[in-house]
Amino acid sequence: MTITAAKSLTDNEIRVLNDVHKELLIGGQWSAADSDATFEVLDPSTGAVLAEVADASPADGQRALDAAVEAQAAFAATTPRERYDILMKAYGLLHERIDDLALLMTLEMGKPLAEAKGEITYAAEFFRHFAFEALRIDGGYQTAPAGGARFLISKQPVGPCLLITPWNFPMAMGTRKIGPAIAAGCTSVIKPAHQTPLSMLALGAILTEAGVPDGVVNIVTCMNAGDVMEPLIKSGKARKLSFTGSTKVGKVLLEQCADKVLRTSMELGGNAPFIVFEDADMDEAVKGAMAAKMRNMGEACTAANRIFVHENVIDEFGKRLSQAMSELKVGRGTEDGVQVGPLIDEAGRQKVIDLLEDATARGATVLTGGDAPDGDGFFFTPTVLTGVPHDARMTSEEIFGPVAPLTPFTTEKEVVAAANDTPYGLVSYVFTNDLRRALRVAEAIESGMVGLNQGVVSNPAAPFGGIKESGLGREGGSVGIDEFLEVKYIGIAL
Ligand code: NAP
Repeated sequence: MTITAAKSLTDNEIRVLNDVHKELLIGGQWSAADSDATFEVLDPSTGAVLAEVADASPADGQRALDAAVEAQAAFAATTPRERYDILMKAYGLLHERIDDLALLMTLEMGKPLAEAKGEITYAAEFFRHFAFEALRIDGGYQTAPAGGARFLISKQPVGPCLLITPWNFPMAMGTRKIGPAIAAGCTSVIKPAHQTPLSMLALGAILTEAGVPDGVVNIVTCMNAGDVMEPLIKSGKARKLSFTGSTKVGKVLLEQCADKVLRTSMELGGNAPFIVFEDADMDEAVKGAMAAKMRNMGEACTAANRIFVHENVIDEFGKRLSQAMSELKVGRGTEDGVQVGPLIDEAGRQKVIDLLEDATARGATVLTGGDAPDGDGFFFTPTVLTGVPHDARMTSEEIFGPVAPLTPFTTEKEVVAAANDTPYGLVSYVFTNDLRRALRVAEAIESGMVGLNQGVVSNPAAPFGGIKESGLGREGGSVGIDEFLEVKYIGIAL
């Protein structure tokens, strides 16, 4: 199979790329890196250079944090309604510009346009959700159990935050942090992934237009994340780190945060089990597996990484899933009808190839797909494997690609034990029509989220997050804003 995407950009693509600032956003000003250094942003469907953006130095990072520190007191003093207004204005602008923003995201990240639009809508929803949360920050007044004293309990912004985001959801992973930070009255320095800085830079311009005061949102793009961020984490000026990315990097950052005892939120890797019981509705289970596996080409922390299917239905399920996977159109995300774009880069694709080779060497069978097409770009065909043994590497490592590994099981007890046999615990999916079994398994399974008869759990109004090595804290829901608030108790003598 060969996939050839046009290397030359259309006029509309050039316009959208030209419209984005390529500099750092610091203290309300767009400025080049102090050394004038830049780095290249590539189109993963062709490997061609799309843009060059500022490559911040550690000194640029310090300037950004200084701007956030300077803006903190005044921003903390703004009213909840002022912060609500900013977020709602930004929400409106995201919808107004959705076509251009989606095209920009598809160009730098590769996901099909329809998915990019879906992500902008999802991203905007965090702003609307947290706009209302800004109005609901609560407190309390209580009588001490022994009488006499009264307790006044209030919440205050944590202070300047460092926000680090991954490339797989270049906009939504940003708004999921920036939304609650603004709602709570926190300033921030944001560092997007080097593969996808353009969507965050476009978001920065929208936030500025929406009325975010100078210094409240600062954006630092760079190639050497560790060199730039470690001094900020250890500076004593930032009060919180919110990170979304791999567990490996998350662990390094947790150690760095210990130095100044920073508050942390960690949205890390996953290894989601997807369990199909014998009594499940097969149509729903296949639909759910397609969503849980193929959203974002499988490049999602929530992606179904291990698909356990009851031995009596695995053949039928495998056949139906393979049919659906083989019908997907692979290509450049900007082209009509494309449902599966390229993977983010060659390293990401090579990992998928290595995991596939390992699984087949250990006895797994390819039902459909299994190849990396010729031509430019980092494409991989939607793949279904069956008979994947428990010792295959892909059962313990994130595949992060369009490969669905099926493993048979016999009993509920056995499959729950297998599902929990991982250091990760982000999300699990369970398909069954037996209510008692559904609740039993949902309670026994070790993950922060469970999709019962549904293949997507992400919702801005729900608490998203993992347990075990999948992370700390929750984003979204009514608790998402608490990650950016400190509780203060004032004891009052009467
Ligand atoms: P990553 O390599 O951990 O990178 C994530 C971010 O951290 C990027 O901005 C990266 O910058 C930065 N970074 C890397 N090393 C750093 C360091 N030493 N100090 C400070 N920052 C550093 O992860 P990724 O490959 O971009 O994203 C995929 C991972 O994210 C997967 O494991 C996925 O499961 C996870 N994820 C989790 C969630 C969730 O909500 N739980 C959501 C989405 C993704 P550079 O780009 O410059 O390297």
